[in-house]
Formats: sequence, structure tokens, C-alpha cells
Amino acid sequence: MRFDVLTLFPDMVEDYFKYSILKRAVEVNVIEVNTINPRDYALNKHKKVDDTPYGGGAGMVLMPQPYVDAYESIEKNENSLTVMLSPQGTPLNDQLVNDLTRYNQIILMCGHYEGFDERIREIIKPKEISIGDFVLTGGELPALCLIDAVSRKLEGTLGKIESAQNDSFSDGLLEYPQYTKPRDFRGFKVPEVLLNGNHKEIEEFRNSQRFIRTKIRRPDLLN
Ligand code: SAM
Repeated sequence: MRFDVLTLFPDMVEDYFKYSILKRAVEVNVIEVNTINPRDYALNKHKKVDDTPYGGGAGMVLMPQPYVDAYESIEKNENSLTVMLSPQGTPLNDQLVNDLTRYNQIILMCGHYEGFDERIREIIKPKEISIGDFVLTGGELPALCLIDAVSRKLEGTLGKIESAQNDSFSDGLLEYPQYTKPRDFRGFKVPEVLLNGNHKEIEEFRNSQRFIRTKIRRPDLLN
């Protein structure tokens, strides 16, 4: 899967793929991440990408020319989706992440300052996605959240694909509690059932824990 990220701060995005699991996903070609900086496409003398809003108001708005020209420079394949990161978009959840895995290319439009000139939306017509009902200073973290969540569903990113299949939300429930060594830490013990090697009992224990956790923490998911 190829991700093309339109951002005024490419380093913020690129650095994320220098570590851990996603670094490896890039190395083994499960994902490819490119950044495109709209500032490089600004035709004005000072490479300006934002200006004050018509009608007045606080902050700066991203101008259409650099952003649209940068977008149009991206080579699109036949199975490509364009996403604008926006607090006004469809909330990102596990189901939407699954839907996104069927594309070969996702183009991600990160806003900054007060956001996009409305004509950028009108011309590009992206799918708008939000990572929650709060406002961040820029779209880079939301874009990274989306890329991370989609990438770990792709075969070859995680050591075992079951790791993602057992995760919270994958079948509507939260995950069961996990334990590792030591067996006893400050008097807090690993449940006996996990130590006895009886796979059927372990599975039953984990399933009941998933249900109890979901009921207590996220009863909305059971509905
Ligand atoms: N003025 C805009 C509004 O009220 O809808 C918010 C602009 S925000 C300060 C700047 C940029 O950060 C947005 O264009 C978007 O790309 C990104 N952003 C902020 N919060 C976000 C969220 N919850 N989900 C996705 N993107 C977000």
C-alpha cells in the first residue's frame, strides 16, 4: 500500500517510519510512504501557503493554489482514495480502517493553521476523516494514526496476522488482559488458569474477560 502525504512539515511524517514495526513494514515493502510539500508548489515570490480569511477572523487559511497544484502532481493509481484529515470528517474507527485496507494508494491531505480554503475541498472532493471530536494544530498526527492503523492490518506488517485479529474492536469486543513474566509482581499474581497449559480453559477465561471488560468499559459496543 502506498501512502502519499500532503504536508507542510514532511519531517514530522517521515520520522515516524524510522522506528519499530512500521520501519520494518517499509523495509519489506508492505507500505511505501511519500511526502509532498505544497510549499514547493507555491507560485508566489515568497512561497507563501496561507493567508488571512476573507470576512475577517482569527488565524490563517491554507491557500488553494499551492495545495491543489501539489495534489495534482501526485501520480494516482486506479485503486486510489484521497482523504482529507479534518475534525469535520467521518470518525475513524476499526470498521473504517478495515475498509481502507482495500485501496492500493491513499493520498492524505494534512491541514494546518485554521484549515483549508473551502475551494480545496470543492476541487479535490476528498473523503474527510476525523480522529475524534477535538481539534489538533495540524493533520500530521491524524494522518499518522490512520496510516499506522491501516498498516498493521496488512499482511506482513505484524509478525503474526492473528495479533491484529485478536485486538480490541476486531470482532466488536475489547481485548482480554495480558500478562508476562514474572508470575508474581509485588504480590499481584498472574491468574492461575494462564499457567496450567490447558488451551480450552485459557480460551474460555479470555473470552469471558473480553465480555466483562467490554460490558464495564464500553457497554455501547455490546449494543
Ligand atoms: N478550523 C478547523 C475547524 O474548526 O474545523 C480546524 C483546523 S485545525 C486547527 C488544523 C488542521 O488540523 C485541520 O485542517 C486538520 O487537517 C487537522 N485536524 C485537527 N483536528 C483534527 C481531527 N480531530 N481529526 C483530523 N484532523 C484534524
